[in-house]
Amino acid sequence: MASSDPRFAVKGASPAQHQAIETLVSQFLLTDERLAVIIKEFRRRMEEGLAADGKVLKMIPSYVTQRPRGDETGSYFALDLGGTNLRVLKVTLDGHGGIKTEHQKFALTEEAKSRTLFDFIAQCVENFLDDRNLRPTGQQPPINIGFTFSYPVQQTSINSGTLVQWTKGLNVPGCVGRDVVRLLQDALLRLGLRVKVAALVNDTVGTLLSAAYKDPSSQMGIIFGTGTNAAYYENVNNLIKWKGPNPSSGEMVLNIEWGAFDSDDFGFLPFTPHDIKLDRKSLNPRKQAYEKMISGMYLGEIARNILLWLADQRLFLDGRSSEILNAMWSIDTSYLSSAAVDDSSELIEVQQIIEKTLNVPNSSLVDRQVFKVVSTLVGERSARLSAVGVVATLLKRAELLDNPINVGIDGSMFEHYPGFESIMAETVSHFLTPEQFKNINFSLAKDGSGVGAAIIAMLVSENQ
Ligand code: ADP
Ligand code: MG
Repeated sequence: MASSDPRFAVKGASPAQHQAIETLVSQFLLTDERLAVIIKEFRRRMEEGLAADGKVLKMIPSYVTQRPRGDETGSYFALDLGGTNLRVLKVTLDGHGGIKTEHQKFALTEEAKSRTLFDFIAQCVENFLDDRNLRPTGQQPPINIGFTFSYPVQQTSINSGTLVQWTKGLNVPGCVGRDVVRLLQDALLRLGLRVKVAALVNDTVGTLLSAAYKDPSSQMGIIFGTGTNAAYYENVNNLIKWKGPNPSSGEMVLNIEWGAFDSDDFGFLPFTPHDIKLDRKSLNPRKQAYEKMISGMYLGEIARNILLWLADQRLFLDGRSSEILNAMWSIDTSYLSSAAVDDSSELIEVQQIIEKTLNVPNSSLVDRQVFKVVSTLVGERSARLSAVGVVATLLKRAELLDNPINVGIDGSMFEHYPGFESIMAETVSHFLTPEQFKNINFSLAKDGSGVGAAIIAMLVSENQ
């Protein structure tokens, strides 16, 4: 256990500190046997969501039924609305899987977030087009634009969908229950812009499609960022709840909304008291359980709960704390990444975080090692649990694993947490045959969500 794994050894620790670390290791290091049980339940939940609406895994039809070939050319436009920024993009496809993007970022104003969102977005589109002399005149055809909208939407066609609720700090009255494409299209019309919202796209679906343009074998798109979620190509015959016409490709991209996994009974994920404390104080208690153990918004806070638990037993910083360390969310997940890579003998980086950022002076080398072990444990559990969704989704279409496939992934956790990709991939390999695993390529699809929306707008306009 802790003592035999050098990553969790704390040199100079007291017996009580050793014992506390042992307890954490037993809570946070998940065995393959434990993961196998969670994977099985994840598969069951996927089947349930394919059969009916309103289940834990929503398995939302995206209305995207094609795969790009990779030889498409031309320029297309997209809007990517996140919680803090709006990006407007012009995406140029070179016909050989190559993509050039030109984009402009607009910070959402407080007024936009609480009142004028869609007029604000239309204004940004107008600025982007006018600055580049791209505004279509009355003689020209309208511009088709793809709209990446990463809030829960019940999609009703490729370019319509009703907002279920706002999340991530947005709260614009009069939008819930209405078609967000209609709201945006009306705002664009008010400015007299010849711009047509051709596609409404979840960020995971965009990530998948941007990966698929570069590599047509792409089967799955994943985000490990502020939150976590994934999309994949499913055989429509398996989508039992689907009442629409069968697409000629026989496939459709589904948005799993996997962050919600295990939220109804809390029966399978490895909840510790530190997770439960976070959940209780979160804005959405008993929701998004899987997301809360995996994604960037939450991991720093789990680590903070652990560190305070240790401090309260005088096993960390001799029981001292600070106003900053006492405040919720004061440990950003990026600090865990910095601590986990710190290999200096005095753990200088960790010292900076504890003493400067968190404002607790005089850390001992033992304190710094404890901080690093906690960071490593929380990050490693995240990477191992990520593999659960990846394995369950890939095995859902096991027939595709007989040939090479690509998985496009975006998000800061995947990009920056040290070893995230290798731990996740290694864990995935334990649940597949060596032949199946050899066929999988994991690739970074950086900022793919906006690019993918432009590609979907392209696919839609080709079919008109
Ligand atoms: P989004 O999901 O909103 O598109 P990102 O993919 O950039 O954004 O993820 C942002 C999240 O990642 C934040 O919760 C942040 O705390 C976390 N994060 C930022 N930098 C790092 C890092 N170096 N290591 C781990 N997590 C990080
Ligand atoms: Mg992102």
